[in-house]
Amino acid sequence: MSKKIIACLLITVFIFPLTACGTTELKRYDASFLELFDTVTTITGYAGTKEEFTEYAQIIYDNLKEYHELYDIYNDYEGINNIKIINDYAGIKPVKVDQRIIDLLKFAKEAYELSDGKVNIAFGAVLKIWHDYRTRGIDNPAEAELPPLDILEEKSLHTDINKVIIDEKDSTVYLEDSEMSLDVGAIAKGYATEQAADFAYKKGFTSGSLSVGGNVRTLERKADSKEAWKIGIQNPDSDSDIKNLYILDLENLSLVTSGVYERYYTVDGKQYHHIIDPETLMPADYFISLSIVCRDSGMADALSTAVFNIPYEQGLELIEKIPDTEALWIFKNGDVKYSSDFESYITK
Ligand code: ADP
Ligand code: MG
Repeated sequence: MSKKIIACLLITVFIFPLTACGTTELKRYDASFLELFDTVTTITGYAGTKEEFTEYAQIIYDNLKEYHELYDIYNDYEGINNIKIINDYAGIKPVKVDQRIIDLLKFAKEAYELSDGKVNIAFGAVLKIWHDYRTRGIDNPAEAELPPLDILEEKSLHTDINKVIIDEKDSTVYLEDSEMSLDVGAIAKGYATEQAADFAYKKGFTSGSLSVGGNVRTLERKADSKEAWKIGIQNPDSDSDIKNLYILDLENLSLVTSGVYERYYTVDGKQYHHIIDPETLMPADYFISLSIVCRDSGMADALSTAVFNIPYEQGLELIEKIPDTEALWIFKNGDVKYSSDFESYITK
């Protein structure tokens, strides 16, 4: 049994009597917690009582915590063969893993195919170099430097996703190349958000919105007003008084944004962020931010990273080919473009 989170849950309540059916009174609650996926999780939704809502929040927390531990690439957890362990055994032996890891990796392989390799979970060797240089540059800005291209190129020889061997019969994963490693940072948060939202929905949480560090998944509509959930797209300009550039009406949809402002460091006055184009091995330089709207939050997360790495025209072509999926691009000069149906979600 996992530890109770009630103590660290911040629950607030708004009361909206439901007049339509006269008898039921659903109330709106919010909860938030801090420690999962290195970010803030917030849950908003409707329930009959505070206890019922707290139960849903607990279910979501427990669920996300399991995914967080399974998909962690940095830390060990007793009794769990997580993605870090798969990396530790690269080139040594297959590792027996939970089905949820296999499902994530299969999903990630689909995203790789769909995006022509622009989101690649086998890109860990290159991403680790960027991660180390960025961390050092943030800790010691005066000595911040870029990773040398020859090191990046050498590491990029060890990023072949076909060498991620999944044996579903034995429930094992094996990295065939001892120099390679998995980095699921582009996909795992959205994928876990989708699974946790779906799990809570099946338990009865049928009107809500779940945000794991801005990876948002909405469930149905607001139970009182029957309006869609209103979800903001953050203004990349954090100095501006305008917090959100757009507010979207979302019902049973996800919104995920990848942006240059999320994680970066500065070298010689220029910012270098955390989404790396597998072709150039450098941070993609097309946009400030890229948002995806579609139902599945895992797909939204994967696409947000992939399309960030693709020039606008090609990205638009890709998005228009995928059913019920829309994108919004914010360019470096502040221009905004969106795919054909994106506008239908904008309320302001
Ligand atoms: P965030 O996790 O900050 O919300 P993203 O979903 O765009 O943003 O994921 C960025 C993370 O994905 C990076 O921190 C890194 O771990 C990983 N990553 C960066 N570039 C790629 C890439 N081309 N393919 C796969 N993963 C990537
Ligand atoms: Mg992503």
